[in-house]
Amino acid sequence: MDIGHILIIEDEEHIVELIKFNLENNGYKVSYALDGQKGLEMIENEQPDLVLLDLMLPKVDGIDICNRVKNNKNLKEIPIIMLTAKSGETDKIVGLEIGADDYITKPFSVRELLARIKVVLRRYQNTKSSDMEGSLTVDDLVIDIDKHEVSREGIVFELTLKEFELLRILALNKGRVLSRSYLLDEIWGYDYFGETRTVDVHIRHLRSKIEEGSGKKYIETVRGVGYKIK
Ligand code: CA
Repeated sequence: MDIGHILIIEDEEHIVELIKFNLENNGYKVSYALDGQKGLEMIENEQPDLVLLDLMLPKVDGIDICNRVKNNKNLKEIPIIMLTAKSGETDKIVGLEIGADDYITKPFSVRELLARIKVVLRRYQNTKSSDMEGSLTVDDLVIDIDKHEVSREGIVFELTLKEFELLRILALNKGRVLSRSYLLDEIWGYDYFGETRTVDVHIRHLRSKIEEGSGKKYIETVRGVGYKIK
């Protein structure tokens, strides 16, 4: 599953290698640039889902790149996580309010970096989707994102928050199979060590509410993998 394209702009090759290896292992598509000039070009040409941006870079530095991206109406929606060499630098860029989405100080653990990336990406996806949608439809169901309501022909279903989130994520990814562990992670969160069976139980409740009496099957089970909405 393509979970996002990340551009690394960093001049220390061993750090690039380390991050690239770990991100690819976690399902991300990765590209990289070793200097600021090339990095800027790649942001414009590739429009990645997120940029990991080193502060001290040859040619154009990280602060300059961040400023240019955040002041460009076509690029400003691309989230940026700054990589800094010492906490003093972090203080400085926070003070400058350059509009980066997060900061991480070297040396950092891979686990911490992955967690930050996930949080920033999710924040963006949530704002993007609620900006765009207002409401989503699945066949004759209407999913109202702002009101957190699901209805059919004007009749509103009583869904729990988790049931609503499951339906919303499946509807947003119409046609794609979402695995149980992906859903668990997205809805219950990074630190939730629950079983994937939790997802099955909630899907069952959700189905009984929205499918009962309609003769319809909105959510399809993909055996051994997960769920999807056609
Ligand atoms: Ca550097």
